[in-house]
Amino acid sequence: MPIVDCHVHLNNYDKINKRERKTLSLEERLNALLETMDNNNIDSSIILSSYKVDIDRPSTSQIIDIVKKYDNKDGKLGIVAGFTIDNHTEEDLGNYRKWLKDGLIKGIKLYCGYEYYYPYDERYQRVYDICVEYGFPLMIHTGDAFSNTAKIRYSHPMNVDEVAVDNPELNIIMCHLGNPWITDCQEILYKNRNVYADISGLIVGNFTISAGTHYKSKIKELLNYVGEPHRLLYGTDWPISNMSSYLSFAQKLELSQDSHDLLMFKNTKNVFKL
Ligand SMILES: [Zn+2]
Repeated sequence: MPIVDCHVHLNNYDKINKRERKTLSLEERLNALLETMDNNNIDSSIILSSYKVDIDRPSTSQIIDIVKKYDNKDGKLGIVAGFTIDNHTEEDLGNYRKWLKDGLIKGIKLYCGYEYYYPYDERYQRVYDICVEYGFPLMIHTGDAFSNTAKIRYSHPMNVDEVAVDNPELNIIMCHLGNPWITDCQEILYKNRNVYADISGLIVGNFTISAGTHYKSKIKELLNYVGEPHRLLYGTDWPISNMSSYLSFAQKLELSQDSHDLLMFKNTKNVFKL
């Protein structure tokens, strides 16, 4: 059965690099992604661009260019464009519209918390309208953040309810299950059929035994509460989280074959129209 990872990055991360003591070029990072995917039998991954562009964070257009260089005819790599009020312009949004239309990107991601705006801030509305116009999903960072300067009241999953209710045609993916507010996330999922959630980024590096047990019970509870397995997506947050550790975690969830297939690829293919 195929495996689709709906949440990976090509950024350099200080905390990760300190461990590895090296800074890789964008091309090296893409090669590392492809190699890691091959080693773990991952069929496709969706690369998310960041909330800002700098030496460690490639722009969406840089990611499009480097993916083009790599022969992507089998659709191995998808791209979702990060959008922030603070660091993106009208021109960026114009490009995103064009790229969505041409299928070069598969959605847009907000970084609430990394920037200090609630998802229901009216300045995001044009992003929602573009996603609806072209039928692609919106990803929203929810829960804890990989930066000490983030303010997490903006990334609390409860904020997503506002957007989901006011934009019923918009498909929304809550990243990271709103961790640690997974109970809140499950209520938003249960209540709003246009909301999905990815399981990425629950740990940095590898699952310990206790983290695996903890998140397994949380995900079981969530699925039980939501009552159907059609809106949970497999994602890792690589390179922050380890791909092989995530795969063994997914196996340990002991889902039925149907639910497992929905999690590992079907739901993602459906919502991103892959
Ligand atoms: Zn991420």
